[in-house]
Parts: sequence; C-alpha cells; structure tokens
Amino acid sequence: MRSSELTGNSKGTANSTEIQGSGSHSSDQRGKLFIVGIGPGDPDHMTARVQSVLNEVEFIVGYKTYIDLIRPLITHQQIVATGMRQEIDRCREAIRLAAEGHSVAVISSGDAGVYGMAGILIECLDQEGLLDLPLEIIPGVTAASAAASMLGAPLMHDFAVISLSDLLTPWEVIEKRVRLAAEGDFILAIYNPKSKGRTQHIETTREILLRYRSPETPVGLVREALRGDESSVQITTLADFTNHPIDMLTTVIIGNSQTRMLGPYMVTPRGYML
Ligand code: SAH
Repeated sequence: MRSSELTGNSKGTANSTEIQGSGSHSSDQRGKLFIVGIGPGDPDHMTARVQSVLNEVEFIVGYKTYIDLIRPLITHQQIVATGMRQEIDRCREAIRLAAEGHSVAVISSGDAGVYGMAGILIECLDQEGLLDLPLEIIPGVTAASAAASMLGAPLMHDFAVISLSDLLTPWEVIEKRVRLAAEGDFILAIYNPKSKGRTQHIETTREILLRYRSPETPVGLVREALRGDESSVQITTLADFTNHPIDMLTTVIIGNSQTRMLGPYMVTPRGYML
C-alpha cells in the first residue's frame, strides 16, 4: 500500500511553468512529469539538472529507500513514497497528479532508464492514452559508472550490463546473455547479483565465465558506490569472487581477457601503444 507523507506546504510554491530549460511544452492544466535518475545516492553525484528539478517540482514520487537518499533536498515538495515492487502504483499516482496539473518528479536510483522507472512510466502513459503529457527524462550516473570509478578503469572497452534478477526476466534468457557476453569477451557489469532468496545465479554466472576466461581475471565488487562512508570495494578474481559478501547493494564488475591490476587499479586496456 502506498504511504503518503507530506513534508511542508507545497501549495502554490512551485508549478510546472517555473521549471526552466525544459525540452517539452507544459501547460498549467496538465502539469508536467519528470523522470529523474538521482545517481548512486550522494547528492554530490547528482547532476545539476536533477537538483534543480527536484527543487522546483511540487511532488516527488519514489521508492522510500530512494526518497531517503534525497532527504537533504526536500524542502517544500510533497512526497509520495511507496514500497518495493510497487512501480506500477507509483507510475499511476504520478500520472494522476500530473494530469491534474501538478509538476511531478518520479525518481529512480542511478539512471532511470537503466532497470529504472522510465520505461514503465512511458508504458503506463501509453496505456492511459496520455502520451501527450509533457515529460522530461533526466539521466543520472548509473551503478556501472559509479562502481567503475571506485575500481579504476575497468569499463574502457566493450561491456555488457546484465541484471541477474529473474523477477521479470526468465532465468534461461539471463543465462543465455551471460554465456554470449562471456563468449564475446565483454566486460560484465552485473546488477541485482544476489538476494537472500536468489543465491545460485551468481554461482552459475561464475561457472559460465570460467569456461571462457582465466580464473585470475580481476573482479571488482562495489557495495553502495559513491555513498561516502557506506561504500566498500573488494578486488578479487573470477575464481574467488563468490566467496566474498555480495548482495543487492553490490555491483559486480568482471574483467575481460585483457583486464589487469595496475597497482590498486583495475584497468581494461583499450589498446594504446605506450
Ligand atoms: N537504475 C539503477 C539500477 C537499478 S537495479 C542504476 O542505473 O544504477 C538495482 C541494482 O543496481 C542493485 O542491485 C545493484 O546491483 C546496483 N546498484 C544501484 N546503486 C548502486 C550503488 N550505489 N552501488 C553499487 N551498486 C548499485
């Protein structure tokens, strides 16, 4: 169920016409929707555009954990916080508010267009026949970039982002993509690597990769990337990495055949001759 918390008085403080620099046309009657990628968490790693939009909208809609990440930016906005897996409720509520004439930001962690809220929100707009509602999609720093920055430069060559969550995708499809990315020597950035109830997929991923890559291939585990003191980094190997703690706040970066350690840095050479 949705829980709605009201923080302060939003009435009359901001409306859609006060949003500057928007690429879409908005009208007072219809309001405006923003889909906002808030980055990995720390406000320092949010784009300036994200900060200005969050500052100017009347409503911010999001999963409550992500609302907590942007608490320092909440002043007058009304907050609609929902639980995990309530993406569709969140979208419908945001669309209802925008259709009533409000300016509404739907937030996602990282980039909203990478396993975030952007796609489902547009699908809901389509289903409701409201694709003409003013909409702006604002990118954010995705977990792969955030994690890579804490490891060195592991994503310097072609890479594949794969989510191991089988909530919406059959495991057979995920497994096939892991196999083909392994065969193609892509660096892998793995999202949703392991949850309490889903511990085997990361082991299977390791086994598949070991068929194609050396056991010594560097692997970086980054937990809560770019979240200040909460962040942790572990550099390990393909042979060993599943012996380390991995959870849903971790991004796993598995090097390709060229990836190596240069001192403390995990680097995939791009091919420059030095
Ligand atoms: N839209 C998000 C991804 C959502 S999927 C983005 O673009 O980053 C959720 C997964 O992203 C998590 O299970 C984890 O693997 C990864 N993730 C998100 N934030 C992270 C962070 N700060 N540090 C490490 N991994 C993160």
